[in-house]
Amino acid sequence: MNLNNPITYIKGISVQRATLMNTELGIKTCNDLLHFFPFRYIDKTQFYSIIDLQPNSSEVQIIGKVTNVKLITQKKGSRLVAKFQDANGVMELVWFKGQKWIKDSLKVNEPYVVYGKLNYYNGNFSIPHPEMELLTDYKNKLQSKMQPVYPSTERLINTGLSNKLIRGYIQNLLQQIIDSIQESLSNEIIDDFQLISKKEALLNIHFPKDQKKLAKAEFRLKFEELFYIQLQLARKKLINKTKIKGVVFKNVGAVFNQFYSDNLPFELTNAQKRVLKEIRKDVASGAHMNRLLQGDVGSGKTIVALLAMLLAIDNGFQATIMAPTEILANQHYIAVSELLKGMNIKVDILTGSVKTKKRREIHQNLEDGTLHILVGTHALLEDKVKFNNLGIAVIDEQHRFGVAQRSKLWIKNELPPHILVMTATPIPRTLAMSVYGDLDISVIDELPPGRKEVKTIHRYDSNRLSVFKFMRDEIDKGRQIYIVYPLIQESALMDYKDLMDGYESVSREFQTPKYQISIVHGQMKPKDKELEMQRFVRGETQIMVATTVIEVGVNVPNASVMIIESAERFGLSQLHQLRGRVGRGADQSYCILLTSFKLSAEAKTRLKTMVETSDGFKIAEVDLKLRGPGNIMGTQQSGVLNLKIADVVKDGSTLIKARNAAIGLLQDDPRLEKLENSGILKIFKAIYKSSGIWSNIS
Ligand code: ADP
Ligand code: MG
Repeated sequence: MNLNNPITYIKGISVQRATLMNTELGIKTCNDLLHFFPFRYIDKTQFYSIIDLQPNSSEVQIIGKVTNVKLITQKKGSRLVAKFQDANGVMELVWFKGQKWIKDSLKVNEPYVVYGKLNYYNGNFSIPHPEMELLTDYKNKLQSKMQPVYPSTERLINTGLSNKLIRGYIQNLLQQIIDSIQESLSNEIIDDFQLISKKEALLNIHFPKDQKKLAKAEFRLKFEELFYIQLQLARKKLINKTKIKGVVFKNVGAVFNQFYSDNLPFELTNAQKRVLKEIRKDVASGAHMNRLLQGDVGSGKTIVALLAMLLAIDNGFQATIMAPTEILANQHYIAVSELLKGMNIKVDILTGSVKTKKRREIHQNLEDGTLHILVGTHALLEDKVKFNNLGIAVIDEQHRFGVAQRSKLWIKNELPPHILVMTATPIPRTLAMSVYGDLDISVIDELPPGRKEVKTIHRYDSNRLSVFKFMRDEIDKGRQIYIVYPLIQESALMDYKDLMDGYESVSREFQTPKYQISIVHGQMKPKDKELEMQRFVRGETQIMVATTVIEVGVNVPNASVMIIESAERFGLSQLHQLRGRVGRGADQSYCILLTSFKLSAEAKTRLKTMVETSDGFKIAEVDLKLRGPGNIMGTQQSGVLNLKIADVVKDGSTLIKARNAAIGLLQDDPRLEKLENSGILKIFKAIYKSSGIWSNIS
């Protein structure tokens, strides 16, 4: 028997059934079936006393005696009710079908083992249609006391492919192959992490001896699954570090130093200094840098990026920074130009709305090397954009860019430019390990000094008048205010109407000439958007009414109030991003979440989380729990969604162990050449046949 055989090799599986199992469950081979794991178990290792039953208990097993049986007939139909008692409690067993046969076969006053789903009604417990066995019979039988329940589909159930049948197939399969199951990890790892053997794990995941064995089997299989993913990531990272050459920024030269002493407007935070050090080490190493920089909104990533770009310029290279929107690109352009004032560095901006003539000029300056820093949007990725010698590409707010787009920047150089990806979306540590385990990660985990935490308040729509009053007071103090409306693609028209209605009511409340209002939304031309945005940035308008276009990166330090309309319609990370637009200046800032009264449980959790914390990582953890990894950026490509048994949200501690095991293994044996690791190498190669990670090394 070979595990690669189709499942029709297993006794009882016809071609028809095999087809069904393939389409419904994706099971083709014996190996697939072996790794088709139960999602729960019927636990018959435990016995309950009736007195200990809880209304929320599900399936229970009890030893007791039937003391009395009677048939109750009502209009709706009849039911057979048996009184069932143990040493200190009484309950009922109930049948709606087959009553005569059951009544005749029940033995009164003999101990039974009863098993079934518990009902609780009016203070009484009962089990409808219980499984029953005389205690004497039960004791004489050797049986698996924890029964696996496998995932199923409606179609499988309708065609009679029951859990019982599937259980039987797996039993047959296990009997045939159990002795040929090979260990898939090295002895050292098995010892270090106290794992049970592969064979024992597979047996016990399907037919556990008891809860303890089941826990060990689960741990072993989750560990293994995560280990091979982590091994792949660690391997990729190792190759990047040792094989992919990067341009070398040897010198910290005049430009960097001049900027540091004359132009740096504030002292860097410790976190910024640490990250800068990490980047400097990378870019001087001769290897290619591929670094993810995580830092909450307002943590000061821009200045770090700029300093990294200056390192490139000091070494005769060009630099680029790419932003997801035109507004943001403009802000970067303005910020960078401002910071570099008085220095002899040429900066330009390339976006979709740059005119052809100017565009040509930029192309020219890029190619002859006179342009040092180019800021831009996706427009940077066009074929005509050719750098003379790009040294570093900074990509801001990376969740707007696909991986493919990222790699496009690479092909223009002989040596790939260093890549610094910046994101303000904190990614929980365990998820980051699974998704970005092949990148280096830097974290700015400290806000610049003097920031006050944004006060966050949840208010219902009906409080709007007091919110208006609050706005007036803040504007009188010289502050500016954002009001953000949801934008959901599917109902863009309705969103537009909401926005316009909102704009009108705000305009009525805050009339010209005393008040000026900007409005920005997705249906406006980029040019008009920009104009409105700039009016707000310059302080000519006090209120900015907008959809989520302003979500990312926009920096107006004087804006101190963020009002989010229909806040229940936003996701957590979006709310957090929006809130990050305020609290950038020295003033106390506020975030007001306006909602209707009707809130789902999940919406309530989101609002509560926002009110309670402003720690981006905590918010990300809650978000991950609420939405699962499938909705978090980057996960689609990473394979964390295809996990068979492990769960990146719940199995964080196992993940860290598996990661340590993978890293430790590669430290000791980077090419997996040692004999004791040959088993791991073989499996690794089989799993990642197509990825070329192993061929890359030899
Ligand atoms: P983000 O990480 O969200 O991109 P920015 O780089 O836009 O944050 O920085 C937010 C604001 O904080 C900017 O106005 C910037 O000038 C300021 N800032 C950054 N670093 C410091 C620092 N070390 N000390 C004081 N202000 C800082
Ligand atoms: Mg930013």
